[in-house]
Amino acid sequence: MKNTNEMEIRFDSRSANEGFARVAVASFLTQLNPTVEEVADVKTAVSEAVTNAIIHGYENEIHKVHIRCRIEENIFSVEVRDQGRGIENVEEAMQPMYTTKPEQDRSGMGFAFMEAFMDSVEVESEPGEGTKVKMKKAIGKGREIWTTQSL
Ligand code: ATP
Ligand code: MG
Repeated sequence: MKNTNEMEIRFDSRSANEGFARVAVASFLTQLNPTVEEVADVKTAVSEAVTNAIIHGYENEIHKVHIRCRIEENIFSVEVRDQGRGIENVEEAMQPMYTTKPEQDRSGMGFAFMEAFMDSVEVESEPGEGTKVKMKKAIGKGREIWTTQSL
């Protein structure tokens, strides 16, 4: 049988909760014995997705953000979902340096960071319905080789 585990959290779209979400996800990830770098990567990606839900999805109105994490063997998956305004053109939104809020000093690098730090990033979005960002990362890549060699 496969080694699986899941958790879900739901919280108000307040920027104060961004740190909570990042730490909650990192804490769940711990059971895979990630490296410090792997934890930092996942935390950064989650922060970017949660910040996007708060500032773009809900435009600073207070509604709920959902996070679902799943572990399947060494694959860590995390989904960040809002029921906010949605994205018209996902492909365009994911381009590095594309932002709809340049006046707020946004650099348009959030999706680029998520893609850099995770193995895969998929975005599902409907204008007026909301946005779901699904990210995956294999934890412990290369560690098995190291272990075998050191035996
Ligand atoms: P940065 O992340 O560098 O502060 P940014 O948030 O504008 O800037 P990205 O995170 O790459 O850049 O997002 C690009 C664009 O995609 C945003 O400007 C916004 O228009 C749109 N977007 C991203 N996430 C959402 C979301 N959850 N709901 C609605 N629109 C979104
Ligand atoms: Mg962003």
